[in-house]
Amino acid sequence: MCDFCKIINKQLPAHVVYEDEQLISFLDIDPIHEGHVLIVPRKHVDSIENLSDDELIDIMSVARKVVVALKDVYGNEGYTIMQNGGKFCDYGHAHFHVFPRYDNDGFGWTCPEGESEYSERVAEKFRDKL
Ligand SMILES: [Zn+2]
Repeated sequence: MCDFCKIINKQLPAHVVYEDEQLISFLDIDPIHEGHVLIVPRKHVDSIENLSDDELIDIMSVARKVVVALKDVYGNEGYTIMQNGGKFCDYGHAHFHVFPRYDNDGFGWTCPEGESEYSERVAEKFRDKL
């Protein structure tokens, strides 16, 4: 059983901020900024493709509540929501990060070296699959 499933089953402690029938939300153990929370579906999956529309809607609804609560508590200027899937899902259990953002807060992302194609040809590759 993964650590997130253990938290869901109350076998590991966590600072829970919200839970319902489909998900649990608790503080990230290594916060990027104070107030950094994870929103974790109760179902152990490593990718959002294995969650139902209802589960995803619930996650985003709770994410909106978290965004409102963060602004109320911290007065932050913005926020970031992140989710890594498949091989890049650490813990092997899907989760969404939500954390407050501030001007010049040092958070960012890095891109690989080199150019990636940006074109209609790229859009056509998978447009029909959506
Ligand atoms: Zn799990």
